Amino acid sequence: MQKVVVDAGFTCPNRDGTKGTGGCTYCNNDAFNPSYCNPVEPLHYQIAKGIGFHLVRYRKATKYLVYFQPYSNTYAPLARLKELYEDALAYPDVVGLVIGTRPDCIDEAKLDYLRELSLKHYIQVEYGIESCNDKTLNRINRQHDFAIAEQVIRMTHDRGIKTGAHLIFGLPGESPDEMLATAKTISELPLDSVKFHQLQVVKGTAMEHEFEENPSDFHQFTLEGYIRFIIRFVEQLNPAIVIERFSGEVPPRFMKSFDPAGAGSIDSVGAGSIDSVGAGPIDSVGAGSIDSVGAGSIDSVGAGSIDSVGAGSIDSVGAGSIDSVGAGSIDSVGAGSIDSVGAGSSV
Ligand code: SF4
Repeated sequence: MQKVVVDAGFTCPNRDGTKGTGGCTYCNNDAFNPSYCNPVEPLHYQIAKGIGFHLVRYRKATKYLVYFQPYSNTYAPLARLKELYEDALAYPDVVGLVIGTRPDCIDEAKLDYLRELSLKHYIQVEYGIESCNDKTLNRINRQHDFAIAEQVIRMTHDRGIKTGAHLIFGLPGESPDEMLATAKTISELPLDSVKFHQLQVVKGTAMEHEFEENPSDFHQFTLEGYIRFIIRFVEQLNPAIVIERFSGEVPPRFMKSFDPAGAGSIDSVGAGSIDSVGAGPIDSVGAGSIDSVGAGSIDSVGAGSIDSVGAGSIDSVGAGSIDSVGAGSIDSVGAGSIDSVGAGSSV
């Protein structure tokens, strides 16, 4: 089973002027979108290209989930959503949909329709929570609060629809303790799965300028610091929630580069640095993902273990086996999954 990303040409209310025009400060969808997606191409053509792309890497895949990923994929009239979703489901060997969206782009009628679809297909809705702190959401210009995320997650779960969420760690102004507290908050939500992202400052975003002006507001994780943080986080996370992704990595050409020895490095963060999460030093600024750990192993995360990250697979974190994440590609973390090609959160 493999996810195939499509770009159905959606936008979002934080870009089209309904709520804002500048978008969330970290967002550059070009950085998040796989190269094989092009919104001007018909959906079936994109699916065919995506399947072809994955056949080279994951030859065992015989069934597919179409992943509506870029922008807010429920942000259209219900009639338009029906056309798109049913068109995708009509493609041979497509057995379900994964739909990424903002919490404020869903309503009862759309959820009722998705419930109907879910009786015959695998249907998962992924919401961009990003942070549980309204102060942070305001700072990154999300134009919605945490309460709406909590509300729609419950509405979605109550209909029996698989419910996922995205979180970003390292957002400006958010302390490590606040990030860790998120584990308890989301553990109380009826979530089936989560995807974690370490903050990456991406070129062409408002955050790039913000970072240049106030680097000390940012907690850019090093690889080691992020691993320590994630271990602490997972230890506190409800083990019934499946972790679909620990980190992501945008293509290098989109990455804002840093001089670790100069102003703006993690060493200059000062109070509230990631050092207060883990025990070791933060020695280099980077966007390393768990994929890049190499052949080292991480044992005993929460109730489960991560075996041979980088060289192998991630097995049984918490109560859920990564291999059991619907059609997620987490079993290919070591080799880099499609989620990690331009990985980020655009929801
Ligand atoms: S992250 Fe999502 S909601 Fe925010 S600007 Fe980008 S597409 Fe819009």
